Amino acid sequence: MREIVHLQAGQCGNQIGSKFWEIISDEHGIDPTGRYHGDSELQLERIQVYYNEASDGSRFVPRAVLVDLEPGTMDAIRSSSYGQLFRPDNYVFGQSGAGNNWAKGHYTEGAELVEAVMDVVRKEAEPCDCLQGFQLTHSLGGGTGSGLGTLLLSKLREEYPDRIVNTFSVTPSPKVSDTVVEPYNATLSVHQLVENTDETFCIDNEALYDICFRTLRLASPTYGDLNHLVSLTMSGVTTCLRFPGQLNADLRKLAVNMVPFPRLHFFMPGFAPLTARNSQGYRALTVAELTQQMFSPVNMMAACDPRRGRYLTVAAIFRGRMSMKEVDEQMLTVQDKNSSYFVEWIPNNVKVAVCDVPPRGLKMAATFVGNTTAIQEIFKRISEQFTLMFRRKAFLHWYTGEGMDEMEFTEAESNMNDLVSEYQQYEEVGVDDEFDEQEEVPGEEYPEE
Ligand code: GDP
Repeated sequence: MREIVHLQAGQCGNQIGSKFWEIISDEHGIDPTGRYHGDSELQLERIQVYYNEASDGSRFVPRAVLVDLEPGTMDAIRSSSYGQLFRPDNYVFGQSGAGNNWAKGHYTEGAELVEAVMDVVRKEAEPCDCLQGFQLTHSLGGGTGSGLGTLLLSKLREEYPDRIVNTFSVTPSPKVSDTVVEPYNATLSVHQLVENTDETFCIDNEALYDICFRTLRLASPTYGDLNHLVSLTMSGVTTCLRFPGQLNADLRKLAVNMVPFPRLHFFMPGFAPLTARNSQGYRALTVAELTQQMFSPVNMMAACDPRRGRYLTVAAIFRGRMSMKEVDEQMLTVQDKNSSYFVEWIPNNVKVAVCDVPPRGLKMAATFVGNTTAIQEIFKRISEQFTLMFRRKAFLHWYTGEGMDEMEFTEAESNMNDLVSEYQQYEEVGVDDEFDEQEEVPGEEYPEE
């Protein structure tokens, strides 16, 4: 069995992480005490990917590590209905808080907690039969999930260099949060994610807010409303890891299909049909409608318009009982009609999976994962906000006061700008174009035989 170790860090990370466990536990027939009450063999076939089985076989326990620099959010999880599901020793927390300061999470307060977290991670990783890798849920705009979260990623890389590291990273939006330093925290984090993750699902609070406000007509969306969308998405994109099937069945296969260049591993997720919390779709959609919606810009969880970029790769996951043939036909139709939006130099760059088990409350659903050059729009948005403040060195003392050097800000800024340029470059390159890198071979002579 190929196991995943899950980590969740900070307020946002813990909130979306525990929601993820609630949803997948329900899908796999696991009740809040860890006991199985399901009705289908499919639920248990790959249960070991995310759960440990208690030695007496009586219950399933999430292979999850919960981390925070303050106790509040985790106390709330512990006393919630699913709080008993998690292993008590896997709650690792401090008392200091990170005060929305990446430097505190990454260098000072977080550095004091990181070894305690790694001890728990090792306890989970060691007994694994064949660990496939790790997934982390966190936000990029705060201090703990972003600062300590990325510190953990670098520790994982160091200790498990050949395992896959995957993140669900929530990008900040001024529409949702009123902390002004979030662009700093996010930029410092992206700098780390570029190097230390294999795949990152970009969950953009700006897009979540827009979906709640415009599509679901919620006048003032709460985190509960946003997190409902996050949980639909996380359940969707992990379907192929959790249920039997061939396509993208583990983190490595997903990376192999989705990531043509190592730095360009920031995915745009999408979901159809979109529903508000506690409400259900009015009617079942057809495969054609699902397909059309899943490619629609308003269904994307990143505030980027895919029509302003091109797809390097795409994975689609349909859930529910439906005709595979119809799914294939609809997906081919979309590609034929929109061929200019898919780079032509990666043939067959759209992959489709179908899983019989629909998410709760829906007969059919579709999840989208796109590696699109349009994702650069998130990084551009954050970069603009970063630069406005950094030019005047506003708020820098909070970071230098924790021992950080201004140089790290400059490096993070240019790494993120480089990332934007790389996406841009691949957006423009055609099948017959000479590629810059080919021409820029250093002036070294090849040794003669
Ligand atoms: P940390 O505890 O120091 O990691 O800080 P937070 O996780 O609170 O980070 C702040 C960022 O996360 C801001 O951009 C918030 O808008 C966002 N955020 C906080 N909680 C949630 C949540 O439950 N859901 C979502 N979608 N975003 C959140």
